[in-house]
Amino acid sequence: MTRALLIIDVQNDFTEGGSLAVAGGGAVAAGITDYLRTHPDEYQLVVASRDWHDATGDNGGHFATTEDPDFTVTWPAHCVAGTPGAEYHPALDTSLIDIHIRKGQGKPAYSAFEGTADDGMTLAEELDARGVTDVDVVGLATDYCVRASALDALGVGRTVRVLTDLVEGVDPVSSLATLAELAGDGIEVVSSDGAVAEDDAEAAADAADVDAAGTTAGTAHE
Ligand SMILES: [Zn+2]
Repeated sequence: MTRALLIIDVQNDFTEGGSLAVAGGGAVAAGITDYLRTHPDEYQLVVASRDWHDATGDNGGHFATTEDPDFTVTWPAHCVAGTPGAEYHPALDTSLIDIHIRKGQGKPAYSAFEGTADDGMTLAEELDARGVTDVDVVGLATDYCVRASALDALGVGRTVRVLTDLVEGVDPVSSLATLAELAGDGIEVVSSDGAVAEDDAEAAADAADVDAAGTTAGTAHE
């Protein structure tokens, strides 16, 4: 098993003080950094995505330009490429990130799977190239880009978990509904502590199997 952490859109515009701020977004950034530093062996690959829109035009109807945003399909301008709003939140330790995905150039793109890495490969291609079987999803926002990315990870055949204490949504009600929807689709919805406990139990069971096999082999030789 090869597991990746997928960090969705932990950017200044999606956190406190940004143009499309999610309450608690800054705490998510700090929480993800703390989680990765505390559990350095949990992931073989760490991927982060950024919304990366064009400065001109409405990005395929994604930015509200003539009317007020409806906060469902149209949004205030956000995460324009090259601006401070598009940068990662400063509490996210970017030295821990192996692959950077950019998405949304000239169009709406909720899922990280719609973006490409610096080498031009899609996220699915990057996961394939590294044999990633399992994906944990964290970041912003639960009811939009986390949801779309988690569903796409499932769609490309990965085992998927969403870590509930490391996500925040635009709207609390729709975020809870989203977690229930994802659970119904076969995505595990679990806290980061719960996820680590599961993995530790699995590793202990694997080690016990190896011990048992080793003992059997040893006996056969005698
Ligand atoms: Zn966007």
